[in-house]
Amino acid sequence: MRTGLYPGTFDPITLGHADIIRRACSLVDKLVIGVAINRDKGPLFSLEERVAMIEAECAALSKQTGCEIVVHPFENLLIHCARDVGASVILRGLRAVADFEYEYQMVGMNRAMDDSIETVFLMAEAQHQAIASKLVKEIARLGGDISGFVTPAVKAQLAEKFG
Ligand code: ADP
Repeated sequence: MRTGLYPGTFDPITLGHADIIRRACSLVDKLVIGVAINRDKGPLFSLEERVAMIEAECAALSKQTGCEIVVHPFENLLIHCARDVGASVILRGLRAVADFEYEYQMVGMNRAMDDSIETVFLMAEAQHQAIASKLVKEIARLGGDISGFVTPAVKAQLAEKFG
């Protein structure tokens, strides 16, 4: 039984994240979605709101793929979180060049701490590749249409936040 950990802030979960989750589900038997508490980043949605949105989005994905999906908030080191949940692989999404430098450093440092946990990078489908939670929030705040970036349920939650 292979367990994977997909960590992120998910503030909020987008169609880009969902695309990566669907792909990750084909690689592991159990997928733990690690929700970084990230107080420093000043998330728009509380941890509870982010977890609830991910759980709602993942119910269908779990059924479709047959992969068990568990949502797990964490505040410690990623590598310690991976050990805590019994993950042998960390899954990350990779968008164009912007993510590369950061991810490159993360893999190097995580490997130095624990060489037994492999990091695997996945790319979303072309129309989901440019989606970033940060930009989705900015567009929603300015009254733009975010239908192509998040599900209707997440869109409604964003509308509530921005009145
Ligand atoms: P963001 O960078 O949008 O705030 P997160 O910190 O929640 O998102 O990202 C969690 C993981 O999901 C990271 O590995 C990130 O690269 C990946 N990810 C986010 N959006 C996309 C996307 N549109 N396509 C591929 N991977 C993505």
